[in-house]
Amino acid sequence: MEKIVVIGANHAGTAAINTMLDTYKDIDVSVFDANSNISFLGCGMALWIGDQIHGSDGLFYSSREAMEEKGAKVYMETPVEHINYDKKVVYAKTKDGKEIEQPYDKLILATGSLPVKPNIKGMDLNNVQFVKLFQNAQEVIDKLDVQKDIHHVTIVGAGYIGVELAEAFKRKGKLVQIIDVAEHSLANYYDSEFTDIMDENLHTHGIKLSYNETVKALEGTTKVEKIITDKNSYNTDMVVFAVGFKPNNVLGNEHLKLYKNGAFIVDKTQKTSDDSVYAIGDCATVYDNAIQDINYIALATNAVRSGIVAAHNVCGTHLESAGVQGSNGIRIWDINMVSTGLTLKKALEHGYDADVTDFEDYQKPLFIEHDNEKVKIRIVYDKNTRRILGAQLCSKYDISMNIHMFSLAIQEGLTIDKLKLLDIFFLPHFNQPYNYITMATLQAK
Ligand SMILES: Cc1cc2nc3c(=O)[nH]c(=O)nc-3n(C[C@H](O)[C@H](O)[C@H](O)COP(=O)(O)OP(=O)(O)OC[C@H]3O[C@@H](n4cnc5c(N)ncnc54)[C@H](O)[C@@H]3O)c2cc1C
Repeated sequence: MEKIVVIGANHAGTAAINTMLDTYKDIDVSVFDANSNISFLGCGMALWIGDQIHGSDGLFYSSREAMEEKGAKVYMETPVEHINYDKKVVYAKTKDGKEIEQPYDKLILATGSLPVKPNIKGMDLNNVQFVKLFQNAQEVIDKLDVQKDIHHVTIVGAGYIGVELAEAFKRKGKLVQIIDVAEHSLANYYDSEFTDIMDENLHTHGIKLSYNETVKALEGTTKVEKIITDKNSYNTDMVVFAVGFKPNNVLGNEHLKLYKNGAFIVDKTQKTSDDSVYAIGDCATVYDNAIQDINYIALATNAVRSGIVAAHNVCGTHLESAGVQGSNGIRIWDINMVSTGLTLKKALEHGYDADVTDFEDYQKPLFIEHDNEKVKIRIVYDKNTRRILGAQLCSKYDISMNIHMFSLAIQEGLTIDKLKLLDIFFLPHFNQPYNYITMATLQAK
């Protein structure tokens, strides 16, 4: 029986384990995870902190018991400490100190990512928080409950996690400030024409925005009291760092080929540079169809798909990933934004001779007076090849499903001209006869 070992049982690992156990017989699957829980949806963290959901129970969709029922041998709170890639053995230690040696025929690394921790003074002060694990969110919630003197919360990092947390803390009645070295929020996903709307939204809801500032130090006696940037010093009672994630490559960084940020380089079957070893989720690269090259995009959606792909290949069915576009969405109070592929800024940085077509209109005809909002759309394309490189949409209306079409367009390498006469239905309850997608594409030069 083929021995398969999976290290890491969060989103990527869970997808791989379930796919293998649901689809294939005669496999021996052993799972190791350092944590005590499986499948925590970090995306619900801000909703939980901000009391928009009742507790954390719904934030898990799998468990040790569910995997064991399907036939896996699951070791929780058992970090793998070392792998001998020549002998094909992993070495782990249980919580009570028992050492385990587990041989494998095929190994799946699903060790995920770790929060980036800036190397500055004061990081060990109390109330300096990170947001990754269930335990991190629980700690923040417990502190807010117990320490009634936490009034000012400073979020470092205005990416999607930082912005979601800013809303959450504001909903808890805190004075919230965001600090970021960038010029605006969500800089990786949206051009400034869109992030200006988000920043206005944050500002209108009372969140202080301090952009173009680099955090240099934290000060306090036992708890954090001040945050020092290259330009200012601010009082604070809690600092939450959301400045990005780095691949957790410690188990393979001396053996496997690495991407520039340390992620395990994988091919379209999720195989690493070692034929017996696959890597999935946040510890691995993705193939990015927008730039037509490998890239690092840490998202749960990519983790799940890469887990499915690896599972089939490990069990003998050849399956290639379709690649990704970095499709993402965010909702902050009543503003919805979705994007896929490259922003204009990123496209230019990647050397594309890129242009955009922008359009703004109501979702439905104006005679529909209720549940009708303006929608802003931008499509980024290559002026020479006409290939669609990215798309962004923003509205108070739920326009989220539109982005999937652009995601597919980028995956399939479509030109913007292919969308000009696309058959898009019209019904006043939903949209307009001259809808914004058609109009934006028609006006692309
Ligand atoms: C606050 C927050 C919000 C997010 N929101 C979204 C969202 O809305 N949409 C989205 O698509 N993505 C979102 N993400 C990103 C998403 O959570 C990650 O991309 C996803 O968790 C990656 O899954 P993974 O299984 O690859 O890695 P991880 O979730 O990092 O899991 C890795 C697992 O490996 C285990 N492990 C590591 N080392 C060892 C070892 N040596 N031995 C044993 N076990 C080990 C860990 O304990 C962990 O369980 C969010 C992330 C955060 C933190």
